[in-house]
Amino acid sequence: MMEKLSADEFDLNYAQVKKRIVAAAEKSGRKPEDIILLAATKTVDCDTINYAIKSGIEYIGENRVQEFLSKEEHIAPVHRHFIGHLQTNKVRDIIDKVEMIESVDSLRLAREISKQAIKADKKIDILLEVNIGLEESKSGFTPDSVTESAVEIAKMDGINIRGLMAIPPVCNEPEENRKYFRKMYNLFIDISHKKIDNSNINMLSMGMSDDYAVAIEEGANIVRVGTALFGKRIYNAES
Ligand SMILES: *Cc1c(COP(=O)(O)O)cnc(C)c1O
Repeated sequence: MMEKLSADEFDLNYAQVKKRIVAAAEKSGRKPEDIILLAATKTVDCDTINYAIKSGIEYIGENRVQEFLSKEEHIAPVHRHFIGHLQTNKVRDIIDKVEMIESVDSLRLAREISKQAIKADKKIDILLEVNIGLEESKSGFTPDSVTESAVEIAKMDGINIRGLMAIPPVCNEPEENRKYFRKMYNLFIDISHKKIDNSNINMLSMGMSDDYAVAIEEGANIVRVGTALFGKRIYNAES
């Protein structure tokens, strides 16, 4: 678990992140209120998450099914997204507990989500995860295949495609990822102009603690921020 964060520390962090979001939005000619700040809450305890929600956080994202299930009942009402790699056999555990799955990385996973959504009698929002750096270690649709896959997935019942998500390669300088963010934005524009049935594509989730300002400048409207809000995690829970 993370080192306990004081309320003061969170307040400072949150104020700083909001300020940078405003600056980046204005730099890219957009309204700050059009950018969703999603708090990435892996390893963060429920008291801290609830404090964040009370302070104004409206979206949270968890990336491990087990951890999410152990926390979700104790978390105040808030928009809940799943943002981590999701195994097909775990879909049924979260289908009625999240509003959006941001990390749909294969047709196989999309089919399972569709199946479980139909069973749960709901329609679930999803983002398609793009492996924008073409990294072997990462899952996701390739930039070349994502549009075709979106057309395929849009035919599945129970699913509403809302946009794209990406985790670019780890880098030393936020600027190094600008090129990937720009590619993502171009893909997002292409795909949103396609008028794909059963979809309402207007969300682009990219940017984390080190590079969310650059991501916003390049068109992100969801940024997923953990460390910059909650401090350093003791163990690495990236997947
Ligand atoms: C942990 C995580 C984040 C946030 O990472 P930070 O660098 O701590 O801001 C964003 N997206 C995903 C998918 C994550 O797992």
